[in-house]
Amino acid sequence: MVHKTDAVVSSKPVCKLAPGELRRVPTDRSRGLIGYHVACPACGFVNIALPDAEGLRVDEATTTFSERIGCLRCHAQLRIDHGAFFWEEGQRVRRRSV
Ligand SMILES: [Zn+2]
Repeated sequence: MVHKTDAVVSSKPVCKLAPGELRRVPTDRSRGLIGYHVACPACGFVNIALPDAEGLRVDEATTTFSERIGCLRCHAQLRIDHGAFFWEEGQRVRRRSV
């Protein structure tokens, strides 16, 4: 199931980001983009997205990320498109006893 919420760009400190908020690094837009902190809308974990790593491109004018981000904690798949977050819960890994 795909969920949708607003992707809000915030300048709050990283530890204060709410689920679904993004923080530009650096927050000063006159300086070149290094990356974004992305607070997972599913679990609130703050992931780091670095453009140019793994082919990621970010259109800052429209808040659009070219690639999905996998949350490191809950494994949700996060897509950011024109200021909206679309996300799916991660697949739980089932372990079978051998
Ligand atoms: Zn998560």
